[in-house]
Amino acid sequence: MIITVLGSGSSGNSLLVEADGTRVLIDAGFSGRDLERRLASVDCDPESIDAIFVTHEHGDHTRGIGVFARRWSTPLFLGEQTRQACSSLLSGEETIREYSCVNPVTIGALRIEPFLTVHDAVDPFAVTVTEAATGEKLGVATDLGRPTAAVRHALRECDILVLEANHDEILLRDSSYPWSVKQRIASSHGHLSNRASAELVAEIYHNRLGAVVLAHLSERANAPSLAREVVGERLAGLGFRGNLHLGEQHAALAPIDVTALRQRLLPPQLTLL
Ligand SMILES: [Zn+2]
Ligand SMILES: [Zn+2]
Repeated sequence: MIITVLGSGSSGNSLLVEADGTRVLIDAGFSGRDLERRLASVDCDPESIDAIFVTHEHGDHTRGIGVFARRWSTPLFLGEQTRQACSSLLSGEETIREYSCVNPVTIGALRIEPFLTVHDAVDPFAVTVTEAATGEKLGVATDLGRPTAAVRHALRECDILVLEANHDEILLRDSSYPWSVKQRIASSHGHLSNRASAELVAEIYHNRLGAVVLAHLSERANAPSLAREVVGERLAGLGFRGNLHLGEQHAALAPIDVTALRQRLLPPQLTLL
């Protein structure tokens, strides 16, 4: 399985997951043209995308869903309430399919399972994506007001985590956001701080965790160095041997090969077999 963060932050989010010829996007929070530009930067033909899975209706996750789905005939998977909340983006020409926590989806090589989060959207999901043939597992959890038992349960045993580290509490307090926005971000229905992200990763850590991508960093209320320091220190204390990446708002990250991560973390005697 290969994971490519096409972009992540308060202004737009999209993640490309591919395995054995199957390609899906988790969210499409950039304009259609911007999404195509980002896909081109990693040599991915937009027509090859098999489906887009939408986690919730906020614009930084949905901006391009309608135009991209119409232009490339890409099926869109949404929760029923999320579809209703996205009606202004949809013309009726798109292929819309429903998915939910009781209705996960298998497309080609990939199984996509949503789980509920606590966030100020109508029916917000986080998702895990598993490659059936290998068991390689990705967890994607951004836009969390607080981690719940369901989130911790769903994210267990992942090979790679894309995890929100939205803000630093002090930078948020001192930021130029209006008070009401600060309250919303910091609330139990808002976003995870760096410290909360570090706590969550410590709770779900296991010694085969190959990579953590810190995602959805606020440009106004966080600094990449702070997020890396807070979560990285916690991971180091746990004996983390994987890679720590930071999602970027304005460009795609280099693709991450989950199969290679797994190989690297195998005990030496097993790699010889
Ligand atoms: Zn968001
Ligand atoms: Zn959101």
